Amino acid sequence: MADDTTVAVLGTGIMGAAMARNLLASGMQVRAWNRSREKAEPLAQDGVEVADDPEDAARGANFILTMLADADAVEEAVGGDVLSALAEDGVWLQMSTVGEVGNERLLKLAADHGVAYVDAPVLGTKQPAEQGQLIVLASGPEEVRERSEQIFAVVGSKTVWLGEAGEGSRLKLVVNNWIIGILGVLAETVAFANTIGVDRAMFLESIEGGPLGLPYAQMKGNMMIEEDFPTSFSANLARKDAALVLDAAEAHGLRMRIAESVAARFDEAIQAGHGEADIAAVYHAARPESG
Ligand code: NAP
Repeated sequence: MADDTTVAVLGTGIMGAAMARNLLASGMQVRAWNRSREKAEPLAQDGVEVADDPEDAARGANFILTMLADADAVEEAVGGDVLSALAEDGVWLQMSTVGEVGNERLLKLAADHGVAYVDAPVLGTKQPAEQGQLIVLASGPEEVRERSEQIFAVVGSKTVWLGEAGEGSRLKLVVNNWIIGILGVLAETVAFANTIGVDRAMFLESIEGGPLGLPYAQMKGNMMIEEDFPTSFSANLARKDAALVLDAAEAHGLRMRIAESVAARFDEAIQAGHGEADIAAVYHAARPESG
């Protein structure tokens, strides 16, 4: 195994910052870059080297880990000479949610630069990221799996290895359709309860602990009742993922009417100014006063 000591983390948003901190705590040398530098600066106090540009972060690194909003952002950040700046046998761990087509674009970018590419989106949100408890849906070349595992074992509690790069992104879309669908129907159910005079808390209490009582529904349902939406996963990014699901479905000839409806609810919530709030803020579009 190569002497892997350095990782360049591109994107220090909610997820990337937590992952960078955990990598540093594990003994890796971590260099971080973020488009808005001020969001990366707090990491410097922990010992992360904050780079002025992606190329500086990547220079001589054994891994480049991308955790940016979408495929366009990743392509913008990793374009130019960034991949060429990596160490000889550097590996690209692409952990952002980019969908099927986005992944293909990034895979090609890696191939054009002769860099090994692991498609590795994650399940889990802000708190699991902080606790190193993400689930990594990894796919990519056999030869770099053991090395990549050094990083995945730090940021996550479980790595599910799939086949060729792209399989991770496809599974991620499936899971996110599930999440987005739950949020849509949960928002309407909470609004419906309120409208017909049922105590919303009683709804959550009645399902708690049984097969219908998803812990996720309890967590997000309580946010809806309290109308307080501190962001773990933004409504904007959830809407982005809904579009990735719908694009993939369409490309494969499947119409997904429920996903379309929930995407429209997200559009309403975002247009009403709640895009940076948590995904649970889709509730704003489901309340009676939203029409
Ligand atoms: P976030 O906090 O909103 O951070 C987004 C990051 O992308 C920031 O670093 C932002 O830079 C950067 N960015 C956006 N547009 C860019 C562009 N055009 N060029 C360069 N950088 C750009 O998002 P997050 O929650 O950490 O999510 C990161 C990725 O993980 C996304 O793909 C998301 O879907 C996925 N994910 C999130 C969660 C979650 O629960 N949060 C869970 C699983 C997967 P600025 O700071 O300059 O805006």
